[in-house]
Amino acid sequence: MAWDRLTDDQRELRELVRTLARERIARRAAEIDASHEFPWDVVELYRENDLFGLLFEEQYGGLGTGTLIALIAIEEVAKVCATSALILAVQELGALGIKLAGSEEQKRRFLPKLASGEWLAAYALTEAGSGSDSAAMRSQARRDGDEYVLTGTKRFITNAGVAHLYVCFAKTDGAAGHDGISAFVVEADTPGFQIGRIEPKMGIKGSTTGELLFDNCRVPAANRLGEEGEGFPLAMRILDRSRPGVGAQGLGLAQGATDYALAYAKERETFGEPIANHQLIAGMLADMETKCAAARALLYRCARLIDSGDDSPQLTKLSAMTKLYCTDVAMAVTTDAVQVLGGYGYIQEYPVERMMRDAKITQIYEGTNQIQRLVIAREMLRD
Ligand SMILES: Cc1cc2nc3c(=O)[nH]c(=O)nc-3n(C[C@H](O)[C@H](O)[C@H](O)COP(=O)(O)OP(=O)(O)OC[C@H]3O[C@@H](n4cnc5c(N)ncnc54)[C@H](O)[C@@H]3O)c2cc1C
Repeated sequence: MAWDRLTDDQRELRELVRTLARERIARRAAEIDASHEFPWDVVELYRENDLFGLLFEEQYGGLGTGTLIALIAIEEVAKVCATSALILAVQELGALGIKLAGSEEQKRRFLPKLASGEWLAAYALTEAGSGSDSAAMRSQARRDGDEYVLTGTKRFITNAGVAHLYVCFAKTDGAAGHDGISAFVVEADTPGFQIGRIEPKMGIKGSTTGELLFDNCRVPAANRLGEEGEGFPLAMRILDRSRPGVGAQGLGLAQGATDYALAYAKERETFGEPIANHQLIAGMLADMETKCAAARALLYRCARLIDSGDDSPQLTKLSAMTKLYCTDVAMAVTTDAVQVLGGYGYIQEYPVERMMRDAKITQIYEGTNQIQRLVIAREMLRD
């Protein structure tokens, strides 16, 4: 199958999401950015149209339509609102630990609630002293009978305060480094669990980013994902599959900004003609469109590898390449879109100003782009 050929079903789903994005989400994007409020109305729209179902298999309440169409949905929403696209990407990020390491009982207990969108999910790896070097985390989980007692603080967690379910990583063996980390599902109403500070930030302003506080938080042992000590490799396997979601968010931002800049350049006149007729502007538009197309080729290739069930180092490398390239394109292209609009690009009334701010985070979260380069080089040297 050609890399960009979609089945009729996939085309239909893309059309559904594209229409919802254009007709229902686009007009909310500026308000979400200005109000800094989490868009529960967008969550409701996803619930009504079964968009969370795109992320899950049929046996757990999803649509079973696969990774490619899920990434296309994220791209389509990100063309108009990166905050709203992140809701889908983080539902996947938060669910992946259960999908990959959950027992059948845990999958049946949690996944249908996430597939319907009744519950939102979060993924909690980062701490104040451990971002790129995530194994340096200090949060601890001590076994006590049929429970674990969690202590510590997570930082910069997307969906803090709006999620019902947090996949959290903590040390069950403080002396063992990478091998001493375990993963747990923590439900929002667990005693000893609290939300701390919510961070004000540059972009994706409707998304919450905050602290998770664990103060002798008692989590049932039945909520541990996999065995003790399997948390770090699980965290990395999750990122292999979630990073393309950030790539899709970046690509959507880039394509949305390109489309807007193109339409603007056809209308805006200087020196007696549309700015699109000036070759320096036309060249920028051509570069922007080409970068989007190249990013999409990488994204689709990665999606097809995930859908093929590949779990090899090839996936680690391709997913890092996808995240790196799509998000570097997002930053470059949204910056160029601001330039195409001139002074108007810098004004909040025009969406490219927001898109450029939103694009920056895609180069940072789920592993900075420096870390992606290290991952890619490590896999190249291993080959
Ligand atoms: C809005 C937002 C949402 C987030 N959401 C989540 C979430 O849902 N869950 C979660 O767990 N985390 C989340 N994060 C955390 C995010 O993944 C980290 O911020 C990111 O991984 C970088 O970690 P750090 O901020 O500690 O930077 P540091 O690790 O301190 O890095 C600082 C700089 O040094 C560079 N650097 C570090 N080590 C190396 C190296 N070996 N070689 C070269 N350069 C290096 C980095 O690339 C970066 O430029 C979020 C962060 C933000 C801002």
